[in-house]
Amino acid sequence: MSMVQQLPHYICGHHHPLEAYQQADDHSQTLCWSAMTLPCPNCCTQIVQTLDLNPQVYVNLQQLSSSLTAFVIEVSEVSQPLDGVLSLTGYVQRAASIDELHPGGDIFDLPNAVWRKEYWFDNDTEPMHVVALLRHLKQEMRWLETYLPQGMRAIHFADFVGTA
Ligand SMILES: [Zn+2]
Repeated sequence: MSMVQQLPHYICGHHHPLEAYQQADDHSQTLCWSAMTLPCPNCCTQIVQTLDLNPQVYVNLQQLSSSLTAFVIEVSEVSQPLDGVLSLTGYVQRAASIDELHPGGDIFDLPNAVWRKEYWFDNDTEPMHVVALLRHLKQEMRWLETYLPQGMRAIHFADFVGTA
């Protein structure tokens, strides 16, 4: 019980979830901590639902140049406070990607913008390091789904905004 009392609060007054310490790795703990200045995942989900939004997450592998590939995460239908959560954890607003070879560029159409984050790696990277990066990404998705009204069902692998 004293452990729970010592856990820090989100801005809505709810405690930082104990599971963040018990189950998560360093990466998702960092994500949890960085979003402490915003409402907790439950409150965030409720706010998003009252706005009648249904954010979806698209995770893909994209070829960015002849030497670089990236794991790319794009989140659609984002408003406050989810935009704040994404912004604090390294996402920026971009146009939605079309496919694996055509990453979205600058935003010209704000209502259809997505929030995007990229994890780059060199094409020569050893497979074991790419697998480690993939684990990192899975941890991040486990954390992000707690902010989504549809939870894990809103996370799509190898699909794009326009094709899912
Ligand atoms: Zn809350």
